[in-house]
Amino acid sequence: MVVQDVSSKFRNLEHIISKLETLKTRLTVYEYTSGIIAGDRVVLGKAISLIESNLALDQQQASELIEKIIDKTGQSIRIGITGVPGVGKSTFIEAFGKHITDQKKKIAVLTIDPSSQLTKGSILGDKTRMDDLSKSELAFIRPTASGNTLGGVSNHTREAILLCEAAGFDVIIVETVGVGQSEVAVKSMVDFFLLLMLAGAGDELQGIKKGIMEMADAVVITKSDGDNMKHATEAQAEYQHALHLIPSSTSGWQPKVLTCSSLTKSGVLEIWEMVLKYQEQTHKSGFFTENRAQQNIAWFQEYFHYLLKSDFQRFGQLQKEMTDLEKKVANKKISVQNAGNQLLAFYHHAIKNF
Ligand code: GDP
Repeated sequence: MVVQDVSSKFRNLEHIISKLETLKTRLTVYEYTSGIIAGDRVVLGKAISLIESNLALDQQQASELIEKIIDKTGQSIRIGITGVPGVGKSTFIEAFGKHITDQKKKIAVLTIDPSSQLTKGSILGDKTRMDDLSKSELAFIRPTASGNTLGGVSNHTREAILLCEAAGFDVIIVETVGVGQSEVAVKSMVDFFLLLMLAGAGDELQGIKKGIMEMADAVVITKSDGDNMKHATEAQAEYQHALHLIPSSTSGWQPKVLTCSSLTKSGVLEIWEMVLKYQEQTHKSGFFTENRAQQNIAWFQEYFHYLLKSDFQRFGQLQKEMTDLEKKVANKKISVQNAGNQLLAFYHHAIKNF
């Protein structure tokens, strides 16, 4: 009994010491801000962990931090890259990133892995991805596990983009696996959306839905080298034709189809020049700025809906009301509109009596 008592006291003491150590090593908002603005990649990494944390204290610090750096953001070009596993995303980003760092420009790569939440594993691969690029002082590579709420996924990645911009990165790549879950979210946070495709694999095999093609500002046929070059050129013509059938987007940009080999580096320069051309053209037309403004408004609306939903979930008794109303709706005892209005009234009542 006494032994048990003493060991549990020790455990408590250990817990308190570890908490104190966390507090001691915790950076202040000022330290985060100045570290990021100085381009310190270690601090930037810690700051992204901070925004991804669910702890209340972290969330408060994270929102103060974003507020502090917000006027230092916006100067980068944000590029979304998607494609099925094996299409060559990481090899391409490595080659593309090297091309960018060779010009003394800074590149940040944020990878979103929709599988990580479910499997605790990663279909984007292990730590060795983009090994060479990660050694460059001008590069920052950060995998971000996608949360299971929309508010979480988009919110964290968008905030990570802002932190990278404040840290002076010129190019920000948001990479995701083209399996249909996160492309729409990524499209809503980037300026240019690049779809990587394999030659001759067939759309179905590649899991590419028409909607994703419609979102693309460019399609790049990967692995255009050796025996595969001929197939790649044929696929280029096919996709170019398919893209012509898609109604043109509000950007005024006609989507392009290019081929590329990350091994021989052929096509890499052309892809970068295409992105620069897009940037120049949409800056001139005003679309670039307008699109970012619209993206911010959509983010604000999405985040506010997320807040409302979380606020609703705060009231446990409303869950019961909701379940009761769901049963009534299912049995056609009550209309959907009536049920919705009743639940809203319960919610307002709960807030009033809070
Ligand atoms: P990811 O899953 O989309 O990130 O694909 P990876 O970049 O890991 O590439 C998948 C495989 O394709 C690897 O074995 C690469 O070596 C290979 N690969 C990638 N790019 C090329 C390329 O340009 N040419 C050739 N021949 N193979 C490539």
